Amino acid sequence: MNKQRVQELIRELLLELGEDPDREGLERTPARVAAAYEFLTSGYHADPKELINEAVFVHDADQMIVARDLDFYSICEHHMLPFFGRCHVGYIPSGKVIGVSKIARLVDMYARRLQIQERLTEQIAHAIEEAIEPRGVGVTIHARHLCMAMRGVEKTDSMMVTSSVLGSFRASEATRAEFMALIRQSQ
Ligand code: ZN
Repeated sequence: MNKQRVQELIRELLLELGEDPDREGLERTPARVAAAYEFLTSGYHADPKELINEAVFVHDADQMIVARDLDFYSICEHHMLPFFGRCHVGYIPSGKVIGVSKIARLVDMYARRLQIQERLTEQIAHAIEEAIEPRGVGVTIHARHLCMAMRGVEKTDSMMVTSSVLGSFRASEATRAEFMALIRQSQ
């Protein structure tokens, strides 16, 4: 990202909005916005394979492993406004497991891009499937979208729920039910 160029664009945007980009409060705003966007879109430059591979461990169990209530903040690609909430990840290993902090970082990596919630959910599930080839994986995201709360329908309390299930989580209703029961305790 060319920070200088982004700063110029934000300055132009402020002018278009009828603001005076030279007044005291806004003087440094283009630089702050550029820095914020650099961080909030840093997920484009991270490699999920590299991220996960250094934290894959051999482990024999075939019990479901759940990492729940992983906070995330993302930006919707339709309005460039935040959506944020919690992500729950479950999988049944087939010889390999991933450190839980890496699952959290994987969620952040995909969240720090312009996203739609459905794709974010699927990308996390597929990345885990590719990395450790588990028997099955399930990802559920509960999120609030500021584009819904601040504009349009103005439904401030609405929550959007998406899920992606692969392998045994897709094939077996009992596995899905176990996953849902384990994450429900948190809501
Ligand atoms: Zn939106």
